Order: sequence, then structure tokens, then C-alpha cells
Amino acid sequence: MILINLIIHRGTHQIGGTCIELSTERTRIILDIGQELPNFDEDKSKKILELPKVKGLYRDDTRTIDAILISHGHGDHVGLIEHIDPKIPVFMGEKASKILNITAQFTGGKPIINPVDYLISGQEITVGDFSITSYLVDHSGFDSYAFVVKADDKCIVYTGDFRDHGRKKKATDYFRQSIPIGVDILLIEGTMMSRIDDKIETEEQIEQKAYEFMNAADMPIFVLQSATNIDRVVGMYRAAKRSGRIFVMDIFVAHIVSQLGGSIPRPGIFSDVRVFYPYHLTQRMFKETGGEKLMKQFSSYLISRKELGERKDYCMLIRDSMLSDLKHISNLNGMGMIYSMWSGYKNTQSVQRLLNFAKMKDIEVINLHTSGHASIKALQTIAESCVPKRIIPIHTERPNLFVDNFDNVFIANDEIAITI
Ligand SMILES: [Zn+2]
Ligand SMILES: [Zn+2]
Repeated sequence: MILINLIIHRGTHQIGGTCIELSTERTRIILDIGQELPNFDEDKSKKILELPKVKGLYRDDTRTIDAILISHGHGDHVGLIEHIDPKIPVFMGEKASKILNITAQFTGGKPIINPVDYLISGQEITVGDFSITSYLVDHSGFDSYAFVVKADDKCIVYTGDFRDHGRKKKATDYFRQSIPIGVDILLIEGTMMSRIDDKIETEEQIEQKAYEFMNAADMPIFVLQSATNIDRVVGMYRAAKRSGRIFVMDIFVAHIVSQLGGSIPRPGIFSDVRVFYPYHLTQRMFKETGGEKLMKQFSSYLISRKELGERKDYCMLIRDSMLSDLKHISNLNGMGMIYSMWSGYKNTQSVQRLLNFAKMKDIEVINLHTSGHASIKALQTIAESCVPKRIIPIHTERPNLFVDNFDNVFIANDEIAITI
């Protein structure tokens, strides 16, 4: 009989920085190697770098880890990947890894992940004693997976970050239906336990509200959102299209969406999508190896600051780092802006600077956002359908709140082994 050791190196009492180890006598695997989230009351550019204490994982150590599986591309799950021994095989979703590498490239670094194989929903991979099936789940991070890990007759399920109110709700439903009943441990994310008052709306409801705002305005609209929240990009594009606007994305977003295919709006394939070239980003990217080719791929769809200043019928995705470009666009007074990110980011200096600029320009700002994480009801639906012997909360600041809402809750602590 095989015994499994579970060690949550980080994540039993915090959101982000997740790192989980599963081992048998002859196999050790790691699920996620996340960087801790910065304190959003301070500047988000401040990097936190504390490596979980895992023997045999890092470059300067003797390798004893057999594989690393990454649930998705958010930094709090993959942010420390650069520090691991490059000989350890990494598994991750193909599109998630592409987004991650493009983001690294555009923020001044090199591609950071080179998976040995890509995760495919419903497919099993074998690593020593473990067989791991990954399931696509709905989350604000594109191409996110949950894992069902088996060894002998034991089974541990890790949900990763997920929800069921986005555009991939059906993926979460399929994952839920696929979890074996009576699993030994369900490691379930509990982000919303400390954000109980956050309103949960579906991505479709956000799209409808964005449409109503855009339709009522006879001025340009900016949307401040994460470049990698693809569900949201799709919703904002659809709202813009319905309200008769062209959709403007910058070269960074354009390059990401061009890699994703499907029905995701992208320049060239969608005639109403135009591409903005932020000045400093463009200067820097042109100097990099291969940068010129990358930047020129969308030059036929370019929209200049001058043209933006002359039009009113556009919706443009922006980021806080684009403020200096926005200052050079004319006729922004009285326009509209949709703040479409977690409200906590308003405490960062760069977002504050952007919102101050909006105030100066008399720009009407509305908040339209919904969480990337599961509501308590969605968490309960998962738990009820697989009836786990033990539920261990993870990715939560309030694990104790699970006790009141779930059966068989076990509150784990970081770095303490649990054997099944
Ligand atoms: Zn997370
Ligand atoms: Zn996430």
C-alpha cells in the first residue's frame, strides 16, 4: 500500500504564494510555485521574494523533485518558476504558458517557462507513483486547471483558482462531475472567504452593464483592466461592438490575443480591432532581438494618438503604465472610463495617478468588475458533489470560516506534513 505525504509549503492561511508538495516513498511532485502577493496598500511594483523551503527544488540544490505542475499563469501560482532547477520537468497549459512568456518579454525579461508537456483537460499524465488528471476550470486567468492526483487507491484533488460565473462555467461543471466521489482530500481555494461582501456577477452581466454605459455616452471610453483577463477583453469587445465603437488594444494585448485563436477578438481577423503603440514600450521592444518583427506584425491596424484625438467612437483598453501616452491624446475631457479590476489595486500609486488624471480631465469613472474566484455557494457545490473525507482550505485568509459552512474541514498549517 502506498502512503501519500501532503505538505502545503505555503497557502494554508494566505491568498497567493501557493506551493504544495505530494510525495510517496519514491516520487515527489510540486503543484504550483507561487510568489507571494505584494501588500496592495504599498506599491505593487515592490517584489516579494521568499522561496518556500522545499529540498531538491532549486537551482543550487541536488534535484529530488520529479515534476512540477502549474495550475495557471497568475504570479501567485507560478511567479517563482525562474528559481527552480531547469532539469525538473514542468507541466502547464499551452496558452497559459504563452501568455506568461509574452508578458515576461514585454516587461523587459526573457521567456520564463518551457513546459516539457502541456496540460490537456481530461488527460492523465503519469509521474512515478502518481497519475494526475488535469481539468480546465473557469477563472480570470486564462487556461487554468484543477488536478485530480491518484496513487494506488488514494486520491487528492486540488482545485487551483476557479469560479463558475465566467465564460468557462461549463468547464468548472465538467470538472465537478469528474471528481471521484469520496476522495481522501479536497484542497479547495477559499479566496472569497475574506471578501464575502464582494458582489459576484457573471461576466455576461458585466458585459451588459459595460454596453449600457458605452451606448449612453457620445464620447470615447477607456477600460482599465488586466491585459491577461481574456474573459473581460471578450466582454468589453462585445460591448464596444454592440454600441457601434471600434475596439482599441495596445500592442501587448494584441500580441497576446493573436496567440489564442478561437473567438477571441484580435487584429486582422476582426476588422473593428485597432492597435495602439505606447511610446516607451514601442521604443524598447524595437531594440530587442526579434522585437521589430513582432512589433510590425500589426502595423496595418495601427491607430495613432492623432486619430484617437479626432474620434469619439472608440473603446480602448488601457493600463496604468500607459498614463504618459494618454496625456498626449486630445479631446479626452468628459469622456468615460470603466475601472474593471479588483478594487484593492486603487491603493497602488500608479493606479492613483491614473485616477487623478481622470479627475483632472473630468472623466466619469464607473466600477465594473467581478471576481475571478468562486463564491461560497460554488465552493459548496464542489464539496457536495465529491463528498471528500477531508476538506482542506487553501489560498484563503480565513480557513476557519470553512468550519461553519462545510463538513469534514481540516485546517492545515504551512510546512506540516499530512499522511494518508
Ligand atoms: Zn491565486
Ligand atoms: Zn489566479
